Amino acid sequence: MCEECWELIAKADDTEFLDSLELTHAERKVLEELYKQGEDRIIEILDLQGKALHDAILELSDELLIEIGELGKVLVLVQTGELFTVQFEQAVYDAFQPLYHLAGETELVALDPDKVWSVENKAASRFAKKLKKLVPDMNGTSKDVMTRAFQKAIKEGKTPSERALLVREISAAAAKGDAGPFDMERSITVSRTMSTAAANGGKVEGWKQSEVVTGKKWRSSKGDRTRKTHRKADGQVQPLDKPFVVGKSKLMFPGDPTGRKEEIIRCRCTMQSVMD
Ligand SMILES: [Zn+2]
Repeated sequence: MCEECWELIAKADDTEFLDSLELTHAERKVLEELYKQGEDRIIEILDLQGKALHDAILELSDELLIEIGELGKVLVLVQTGELFTVQFEQAVYDAFQPLYHLAGETELVALDPDKVWSVENKAASRFAKKLKKLVPDMNGTSKDVMTRAFQKAIKEGKTPSERALLVREISAAAAKGDAGPFDMERSITVSRTMSTAAANGGKVEGWKQSEVVTGKKWRSSKGDRTRKTHRKADGQVQPLDKPFVVGKSKLMFPGDPTGRKEEIIRCRCTMQSVMD
């Protein structure tokens, strides 16, 4: 799909998601800006990562290029190299930690204007740690995508040099973001997943600090792409400190980074507060 199309889809989804947060105009502007910053940074990092992978692939001899095990090693090296791990974690922290605080503070102040949101709260640093755990998971998905593409190239080539050429072509396309895990789609997936987690995680913490909210109600997003398990969870009520049961996962909130990735990637669900 074209880049503009992805952006339009992302925008439509974001609008619906942001609407559900019931923010003031000013808060919404800040939130939209944070979304954009996070997404831009992720795009930048994936772009660099794609180029680093292609450079590493170009270093390999024809013989090594057609060994899938060798290609897998290169992939892992690029993804787990300190540079990208640190950059990725930092981007996640810079972009999505403020979202967590903003969502939490907004809820808290709306419930009780006298309460002060504590930025140094333990929940926030626990949340940051959890969010970082998403990075290896997402790297795993992108490694699978690349490995499959390389495998296909190796199978399609008739001679060893033709196979090597096809592998190089795949990595060149991936580096440009034309195919594989370094494209616009993946950037949106990553930032989308993180923003849902941050906004909902912050909300739950804001409700806890309010001391008046006792429960939470799952609200599934309305689009056709909403998972069956999430549609089924719509309306589920749980005490604040108990998880929702969604599919095979137990999630403290939509996008909970400790949940199974099939239940959290690209989730746009939200929650409502419940008071006794
Ligand atoms: Zn969902």
